[in-house]
Amino acid sequence: MSKDTVQDGLVVSMDYTLRVDGEVLDSSDDAGPLQFLAGYENIVPGLEREMIGMKIGESKDVVVAPEDGYGEFDEEGFMDVPRSELPSDLEIEEGLELSVTDEEGQNQYARVESVSDESVRLDFNHPLAGAELHFSVTVVALREPTKEELEHGHVHEEGHHH
Ligand code: ZN
Repeated sequence: MSKDTVQDGLVVSMDYTLRVDGEVLDSSDDAGPLQFLAGYENIVPGLEREMIGMKIGESKDVVVAPEDGYGEFDEEGFMDVPRSELPSDLEIEEGLELSVTDEEGQNQYARVESVSDESVRLDFNHPLAGAELHFSVTVVALREPTKEELEHGHVHEEGHHH
C-alpha cells in the first residue's frame, strides 16, 4: 500500500487549531506541528477517523461531536471527599487539578469543583467533556514509526521518552 496518505500505523505530523465556541483553545502555532501515531488512539477518535486518507499538504475542517471527542458531560461524574482523606499539606482551591487513584488502582484526572470546611467536591469530567470540537488541520508530514514507537503505541519526540 502506498504510504503517502494518512493511515493506521504511520506517524502523522499536523498543524492544527482547536476552537470551541469560536474561541481558540489550542494550536500548533507556538509548539510546532503535533505528531501522532495513527490507529493508536493518540488523538480523539472523531478527528482521527476524518484524517484517514488525507495527503501531505491537505487541509480540512473537522467538527467532532462530544461522543467522538472527550465524551458527554456526566452529571454523575462528581464525588464529595472528606478533607481528612486528602493530604493535609495540599493547598486546595477551586480549579485545582489532581490525579486521584481509584479503587482499582487507576489514576484518574479530577478537578476541584468546590470546597467547604468538611469536604471537597471533585469533578471527574474531562475539561472538554460535552464540547463540540472544531479542528482545522493540515497534514505536514508522514513517516514510518520506529520499532520502539510501534511497540509503545505513541510517538517519541526528541527529549520526550515515556
Ligand atoms: Zn514510549
